[in-house]
Amino acid sequence: MQKWLRKWVRKFEKPLTVLAGAASLSFLLLNFDFNFLEANLYDMRVSRSYSQPPNPEIALITLDDNTIKTLDEFAPLPLKHHIRFLEKIAEYQPKAIGYLIDMNPVFQMKGEATKAQVGKLVSAIQNLKNQHIPFLLGTPFDVTGEVLPPVGLEGVDHAIAVVHKDGNVFAEDKVTRRALLSLYERPSFHLLFARKTGAIGENEFPPGTFYVPQVDGKYFFFRYHQSTMVCRENCSHQYNRYSFADVLTGKISPDLLKNKLVLVGTLSSDDSSDYALTPYAKTAFLNPKIVVHADILDSILKKEGILRIPGAINTGVTFIVTSIVLWWILTSTPLWGVFATLSLALTFIIVSHLLFQFYGWWIRESQPLVGIFVSYYLAVPYRLIREYKKRWDYQRKHEILMQVEELKTNFLNLVTHDLKTPVARIQGLAEVLMKRTGDRLLPPERETLKNIFSSTEELNHFISSILELSKVESNRLQIQLASRDINQLIEKSITDLQTLATHRRIKIHSNLEPLFPIKIDPALISKVINNLIDNAIKYSPEGGEIQVRSYEEDDWLVVSVQDQGIGMSEEEKQNLFTRFYRAKNDTTTMISGTGLGLYLTKYFVEAHRGFVDVDTQKGKGSTFRIYLPLSDATINKLPKTHSTFFKDKLDLAQKENSDVSSPSGR
Ligand code: ADP
Repeated sequence: MQKWLRKWVRKFEKPLTVLAGAASLSFLLLNFDFNFLEANLYDMRVSRSYSQPPNPEIALITLDDNTIKTLDEFAPLPLKHHIRFLEKIAEYQPKAIGYLIDMNPVFQMKGEATKAQVGKLVSAIQNLKNQHIPFLLGTPFDVTGEVLPPVGLEGVDHAIAVVHKDGNVFAEDKVTRRALLSLYERPSFHLLFARKTGAIGENEFPPGTFYVPQVDGKYFFFRYHQSTMVCRENCSHQYNRYSFADVLTGKISPDLLKNKLVLVGTLSSDDSSDYALTPYAKTAFLNPKIVVHADILDSILKKEGILRIPGAINTGVTFIVTSIVLWWILTSTPLWGVFATLSLALTFIIVSHLLFQFYGWWIRESQPLVGIFVSYYLAVPYRLIREYKKRWDYQRKHEILMQVEELKTNFLNLVTHDLKTPVARIQGLAEVLMKRTGDRLLPPERETLKNIFSSTEELNHFISSILELSKVESNRLQIQLASRDINQLIEKSITDLQTLATHRRIKIHSNLEPLFPIKIDPALISKVINNLIDNAIKYSPEGGEIQVRSYEEDDWLVVSVQDQGIGMSEEEKQNLFTRFYRAKNDTTTMISGTGLGLYLTKYFVEAHRGFVDVDTQKGKGSTFRIYLPLSDATINKLPKTHSTFFKDKLDLAQKENSDVSSPSGR
């Protein structure tokens, strides 16, 4: 692979993985329809969504058992009653009548369909027409798709009236979700009835209409009225419903049916499971088919068919949600990954429910939801493998580093130990030579001898620092705590360094507040104070002044060393406590040093659960302060004055130095 391409792929590895994963997953899911799951999710939307109350314009007249009993007849109700009913209903002046009673069994009754009777029925219907009351007969159809009105009624307006069940396609569970709008280009009962009332144009179809070539028919997903699904009887949100017998006997007040769209049908509850959508509704729902007919009609009248979102958009949605999940899983913490995935699934369900509820948009939920969970279950192990590999790499690197570190420490130990003895011998011999022949030597020779002496001193100092460092790094440092007055240690350091200071004409002032003894390792703290004063002398110009102070601040004991020396830039200050760090400027290159003093200072102070703070300004001088806790409780409180530079370092130190006596936690 080209170098630039490899670099580019490495740079965008995560987004590329996410996009490739999401694209292939969406493509894969495209091949599955998840119809059963989708149907259940569809039903959930239908049954959970708030729906408007049933259309008050629609009135249902039901031919129930009560009617048969009142009229002292047997089912099917004889034709004469139908004739009387149609004659009677004209008096109520309805807007239109949809007759959903199958007349075939009535006509098949012995002696019923005499020419005179059929003539009477047709003329009753004609009478309605004359009064401008449209009449439409809903008829069943046979397997050939032929609409079959009984012989003699062919001239009456009729259309196919069926309640479709999802039998062969979609969920195949015999639940009614969609309604037939036309068959062989002939409008169904509901569409024709709505057209007759003028609510919908002659060639118009409700939104969401789709063509099914296998049956040469048009369908649409209609809206159920929730109340019709779960309500048993006498519900407030119900279609106005009257009994066939009451109309016949004129028991209904004359204006109740005026200008209503009247649907007449039988009342049987044996079809309830056809269109009951929820398990609860399946048992509770006792509404007859006529209510479903009314719901279909109502959906057409209100033009509120469900719009199926195109497949491309569904795939796009699947792609987006899977991308989000994959990205979250690959980039965030596992807990957040779980939380975010569940929230995304929930948000998606809520949004799609709202779109369904308010706009009638049906986004397929199954693919995106399956996408969300599948991508989660694929991404988690993928991430684990990646993380394991990374950890393995780190471990290898760490092991190598440890080996290198050990080698280095061993080497330093070896060299410094071996150097220590000859250096001490040179120093001793130089001293002896000085004592024995000092007054006999010429001044330049004496100067050379002095140089040998001071160089060995420097070398000694260097060797001690390296030994100290190797002790610290190999965690061999032991703290020996003892109660001491820190002022005594300061005074001793000043006395020890006085010669050096005088040599450089530097004055050391001390201002030491009387202090109670505290528990410290006197050897280590002496080294710290020595180093700070030594640095102050080294990095101050000749004739400068140094202030050494000790005082209590809140619950801390503070030792500060202030000089008027070269100071430091912000960048130098940042690196100050790194081992072997020495600022690069004219003064430091002239002065010998190891770059270890402050590193060890910080380590020793933090081993006491304290911290070091520094204020410095280039060319103006520096103030180093060490803070030592007066008691164990102190470390939880911070002094108001300490600079933010050390705040994080202190937190770290507190975490790491959990035990004063064993700083091996580092
Ligand atoms: P050394 O003094 O041996 O170089 P240190 O660790 O004590 O090592 O100091 C590290 C560096 O910090 C020094 O090289 C110097 O650049 C800078 N430094 C330390 N103390 C001071 C000071 N008082 N004023 C200015 N620079 C200082």
